Amino acid sequence: MKIIRVFPRKTKATPDDKNVRINCGPELWDEADEVHVSVAFTYDLSHAEWLAEQWKHVAPVKIGGPATGDKGGEFTPGMYLKPGYVVTSRGCPNSCWFCDAWKREGRTIRELEVKDGYNILDNNILACSPEHQEKVFKMLERQKEKAMFTGGLEAARFMEYHAEVLQQLKPQTFAFAYDEPSDWAPLVNASQICREFGLVGPGIGHTCRAYVLVGYPKDTMQAAEERLKAVCSLYIMPEAMLYEKEKHRKANDGWVGFQKQWIHPVLVGRKMKEVQCQKRGECEIWGEK
Ligand code: SF4
Repeated sequence: MKIIRVFPRKTKATPDDKNVRINCGPELWDEADEVHVSVAFTYDLSHAEWLAEQWKHVAPVKIGGPATGDKGGEFTPGMYLKPGYVVTSRGCPNSCWFCDAWKREGRTIRELEVKDGYNILDNNILACSPEHQEKVFKMLERQKEKAMFTGGLEAARFMEYHAEVLQQLKPQTFAFAYDEPSDWAPLVNASQICREFGLVGPGIGHTCRAYVLVGYPKDTMQAAEERLKAVCSLYIMPEAMLYEKEKHRKANDGWVGFQKQWIHPVLVGRKMKEVQCQKRGECEIWGEK
């Protein structure tokens, strides 16, 4: 069955095979048995409906994707995400107030068949059973590309075993999060484990990252900067995640510019150096003198 997939916008994760179309209506020769409009962001939903209108003359159209509240079923590599990106579980047992994953996919983890890929996008891979995690790590060992854990690793569930696995896999990147004050202690603990296994520390590079939520109601740029700098002090590279980015863009309130300063790897790398220079000699966490 030929399915044309239509995406309202292109991101790093959008597939690019011959049956993919980005933000356009059909061309004269387009033929398909079905057309799927896949929507990742809620602000694209009305545009997705417009796209569906354009394509309805070619074949029956379905609109789906995370923005539609789709619970998500089995994962098909390369279908709605570029080959290499992989989802091995759905749902999350936590219920962070700013997150849609648990509302959309449920608070019970559903472990899926483990398909090949190197970039793990699961909401919370460390909340999966040890058996499932083991299968995923084995699958990652077989891949030519170095692993990436861009879906994130929950610091509170991170143990020495995981650090051992990361030491073996030598991933391109893995990411924790520092979204709420309660995330700080687990993040410090995870950073200490990583330090023991040579995954973070002076001169080790920026493989280890932490997503830091900024720009939520009552947040200030000063407070956000303090949180981001605190992450730098752990030798973890922070990455600012702007809450409701489209609203901030429309409000033109400075948060979009702030995020740019704290997401660009070169700029953030510089800030990390500054923070670490200031911290040297007074670091309580690492006990360095
Ligand atoms: S742990 Fe991550 S995926 Fe789970 S609810 Fe919180 S932010 Fe969402």
